[in-house]
Amino acid sequence: MNTLGIIGGLSWASTQQYYRLINEEINRVRGRQASAELLIRSINFQPVIDAQVRNDWNAAAALLCDAARDLERGGAKAFLIASNTMHLVYDQVRDAAGIPGLNIFDATAAQIHAKGLHKVGLLGTRYTMSLSFFREEYARRGIDVIVPEAKDAARVNEVIFKELIHNQVRPESQRLIWDVMATLHKTGAEGVILGCTELELLTGERPQTSTTDFEDIPVFDTTALHAMSAAQWLIGTSSQRKP
Ligand code: GLU
Repeated sequence: MNTLGIIGGLSWASTQQYYRLINEEINRVRGRQASAELLIRSINFQPVIDAQVRNDWNAAAALLCDAARDLERGGAKAFLIASNTMHLVYDQVRDAAGIPGLNIFDATAAQIHAKGLHKVGLLGTRYTMSLSFFREEYARRGIDVIVPEAKDAARVNEVIFKELIHNQVRPESQRLIWDVMATLHKTGAEGVILGCTELELLTGERPQTSTTDFEDIPVFDTTALHAMSAAQWLIGTSSQRKP
């Protein structure tokens, strides 16, 4: 099995989910005590957030490029960025790393195609929901993306940065996310992309209500899908067979 490098800390709350999900999948497939060959370069999130707020994506990219080089020097044969937002600088990071990257849009789009859907809602940080880059990345993969109205988008962004990146899960925020997803569903989204790697912390259980059928909403959890693509890459580099 080759080694996969993870650029993490964006935030640590979601990086730990990647770590768990990748290892669970490797063990499910390989059995016994098998686990993943990983290098995690978890960086300080504060300077990244400061650069995001200044709209200085080159400064943010430089931090991730350094991390990518560390991973390559440490022996990683491929890397991933454990954040949707920071895929804005994916090409720069891949060029700096000099090793292949596992792209979060590819992993997510493949699953949306597998379900035969073409128009989906997108939840994420304010950057992900407002910058045309993200819509264009999905459009290039044949998927139309719609985003929540401004008031809902602002609330989702606030939950991400005030609660989820600190691993705080509040029932009222859980409710909010499902309500925003239901609104997108009613306004034409066939499914919803959880386009922020912390959002899966909130959506584990679908709420029960008499008025909204949340069971009907196909949800594309970018953390889980990206982690699965990582596990598949790791398994593909290994010649071992499950005993
Ligand atoms: N983890 C988040 C994402 O998937 C947001 C953190 C960030 O701004 O990088 O977009």
